[in-house]
Amino acid sequence: MMKTIGDFAVEGQRVLVRADLNVPLDGGRVADDGRIRASLPTLTALKARGARIIVCAHLGRPGGKPDPRYSLAPVAARLAGLLGDNVEFAADTTGPAARAAVAALRPGDVVVLENLRFDAAETSKDDAERGRFADQLSGLADRYVSDGFGAVHRKHASVYDVALRLPHAAGYLVQAEVAALSRLTASIQRPYLVVLGGAKVTDKFGAFGSLLGAADRILVGGAMTFPFLAAQGHPTGTSLLAADQVDAATAYLDKAAPGQIELPSDLVVAAEMAATAPHRVVAADAIPAGQMGLDIGPQTAARFAAALGGAATVFWNGPMGVFELAPYAAGTRAIASAMTEGTAFTVVGGGDTGAAIRALGLAEEAFGHVSTGGGASLEFIEGKTLPGLAVLEAS
Ligand code: ADP
Ligand code: MG
Repeated sequence: MMKTIGDFAVEGQRVLVRADLNVPLDGGRVADDGRIRASLPTLTALKARGARIIVCAHLGRPGGKPDPRYSLAPVAARLAGLLGDNVEFAADTTGPAARAAVAALRPGDVVVLENLRFDAAETSKDDAERGRFADQLSGLADRYVSDGFGAVHRKHASVYDVALRLPHAAGYLVQAEVAALSRLTASIQRPYLVVLGGAKVTDKFGAFGSLLGAADRILVGGAMTFPFLAAQGHPTGTSLLAADQVDAATAYLDKAAPGQIELPSDLVVAAEMAATAPHRVVAADAIPAGQMGLDIGPQTAARFAAALGGAATVFWNGPMGVFELAPYAAGTRAIASAMTEGTAFTVVGGGDTGAAIRALGLAEEAFGHVSTGGGASLEFIEGKTLPGLAVLEAS
């Protein structure tokens, strides 16, 4: 059983909270604060209980060294606004600034440490290297709360090793995520449809392997489309093609039952990824040379929406197109709307997918659950063991 934060005393204690604050930034401005909001229930509860709160998180992939473009400073400022209270920011992660800020905390105070991934040890594959960083992090605190659901599939120092060193518990976000996503791993209501899209194709493509065993149908969009088109011998133009996944796509098409994997039949293409580029709809098996697929086409959107209407359970990860640019948002909008119209239990997972539904003006309440995790939610519903959850089970 996972301990929860109700299970241990926090008053006056220094509590290290691993949060998921990996939000999209737009020139130093927080473009979507969904993940910051999702971390509020735990932080407000710890504040109310008089904990001295030390928030640690990562932002983007700075490559193991300080890089001002990935500073958590703007995130700390937004968190202060949402908490309606002062939030300190430490300009390093475990160095003198962090130690001084932690020493100055009074009960109910919050400090956000600088980006964990400014230190290569956070994500190191070497247990000893990660362990040394975890020693420094855990040295700042008396207790550890794991609430960064979006990172629990990673065996990282702040997610895994710190939990081995401090009395630990799951925060409210992790608890809520596990409760909702568990409905997609046991006694699933059928038909169960999975929609997969987005751009992190190499990271996520392996999910087809287990999902073919669990889902009745898998609807494919976004850049997930292109390895399949290539596997079928169709041209992909200048589309974002994960060439390393074409063999896997061939194997999945062989393994799938007829119609179990549904690919786009039409696509919106343009010569470049720009809102101003001339764009048009083409058959998916005939992407012209020099053009890239940037959204599913209207015929595909209608077919996918109709399929979703008949589902009892839906999991969606990854936008159907480059929704950030208006000409390529229609496919994502169609899928999102169809999910809110049916009676199915619907789960949306993924940082950008969650951001997409908010950017399109859809209410999160219209979905069964909006997960903050992309890779994490996907691995959870695949039935994999997630290191950051497994370590919480251990005492
Ligand atoms: P999530 O964060 O929800 O897990 P990803 O990070 O995998 O999703 O992918 C999100 C990104 O995918 C979005 O920024 C979107 O612009 C991009 N995307 C969707 N379709 C395409 C496409 N056809 N070509 C390139 N990028 C795409
Ligand atoms: Mg993403």
